[in-house]
Amino acid sequence: MPSHLAWPFFEDRHRAWAERVRAWARDNLQHVDHADTDASCRNLVSRMGAAGLLKVTAPGEGNEKLDVRTLVLAREALASHDGLADFAFAMQGLGAGPISLFGNDAQRAEWLPKTRSGEAIAAFALSEPASGSDVANIATAARRDGTEYVLDGEKTWISNGGIADLYIVFARTGEAPGARGLSAFIVRGDNPGLTVAERIPVIAPHPLARMRFENCRVPATALIGNPGEGFRIAMATLDVFRTTVGAAALGFARRALAETARRVQKRELFGAPMSDLQMVQSHVADMVTEIDAAALLVYRAAWTKDMGAARITREAAMAKLYATEAAQRVIDAAVQLHGGMGVVSGHPIETLYREIRALRIYEGASEVQKIIIARSVLSELER
Ligand SMILES: Cc1cc2nc3c(=O)[nH]c(=O)nc-3n(C[C@H](O)[C@H](O)[C@H](O)COP(=O)(O)OP(=O)(O)OC[C@H]3O[C@@H](n4cnc5c(N)ncnc54)[C@H](O)[C@@H]3O)c2cc1C
Repeated sequence: MPSHLAWPFFEDRHRAWAERVRAWARDNLQHVDHADTDASCRNLVSRMGAAGLLKVTAPGEGNEKLDVRTLVLAREALASHDGLADFAFAMQGLGAGPISLFGNDAQRAEWLPKTRSGEAIAAFALSEPASGSDVANIATAARRDGTEYVLDGEKTWISNGGIADLYIVFARTGEAPGARGLSAFIVRGDNPGLTVAERIPVIAPHPLARMRFENCRVPATALIGNPGEGFRIAMATLDVFRTTVGAAALGFARRALAETARRVQKRELFGAPMSDLQMVQSHVADMVTEIDAAALLVYRAAWTKDMGAARITREAAMAKLYATEAAQRVIDAAVQLHGGMGVVSGHPIETLYREIRALRIYEGASEVQKIIIARSVLSELER
């Protein structure tokens, strides 16, 4: 058992779960096709659903809550094997998150069994061409028309865009200016008026698209929560899933460290293993220390939420900020210590170098996390 699983954040059920996901990943993620990401994601979601791994991405029958430590350990294990598998797992949770956390009984009964089994692929559609970091600036409109809402606008950078069966769409309903005038809707992937405007290729390929809503009519029952609650729903969902982005970064960083430890002990330089060189040891010491610091912040945020905190905005921001930035440094050091091998296309370290980059941008760029942390601390100190 890895030593961090013995830390007091976890219970035995978490330790058993981490081993289960690790074993599944070892047996199933050796040859994931990163060329046809649509087919791979469908396949991964279906296989993870069949293996029961997606059950934890949304609450099931009864009233159990999302257990953030369970999500964190799954993402860490999956990311250390394959970035696309981690992505497919995470999107089931994030996409279904607003329904899990704020949906009514009918919405939960309709969708969550399908996202948990892998029958339905989920997407979270918040960002727009003119409002990424500035979320409150959303322009996509939802106009009430009798028993329906009519959505018009564009969403971009939508993970699973084009392959999702279910999109949670945040749109302006206009109860108040800015953040207080947004609402959250469930939109089916095959809803008339919803089309793919553009597929977006990225450095670590996964399904990503700009989506267009043109006279896209959904029943009023597709509204999650009340009109005007969209921003709060989005932010509370991100509280949970931002922590898990930190966990994915941790998984990438742990893999980079493991590859590097093997490499420096095997590779001979100047007549001895590289690991005998003190500057190499210095890199390794920095990598391990940053990984442990990141793990402590990620597990702290997850544990705090699981212990009943209503919101963990600051803890989640710290976990995501530190873990993603630290993982970038760890992976960069791994590239350096691998020499030329570290930049060969398809080498695990080169793959990690591409995989980690977007995590410092999505679900709130690092600068945005810093603002969240600073505002939270300053408002506390003002009191
Ligand atoms: C691979 C990938 C997957 C994504 N998946 C989804 C998804 O599924 N659903 C979804 O809704 N969105 C998704 N996004 C969108 C993502 O959340 C946005 O890209 C992100 O919020 C940044 O918005 P932007 O790209 O418009 O950059 P901008 O808002 O233009 O920001 C550009 C940069 O400005 C800097 N910055 C921002 N705010 C400040 C500030 N206050 N002070 C100083 N500097 C600042 C940051 O460095 C930031 O990266 C995804 C993005 C990527 C890259």
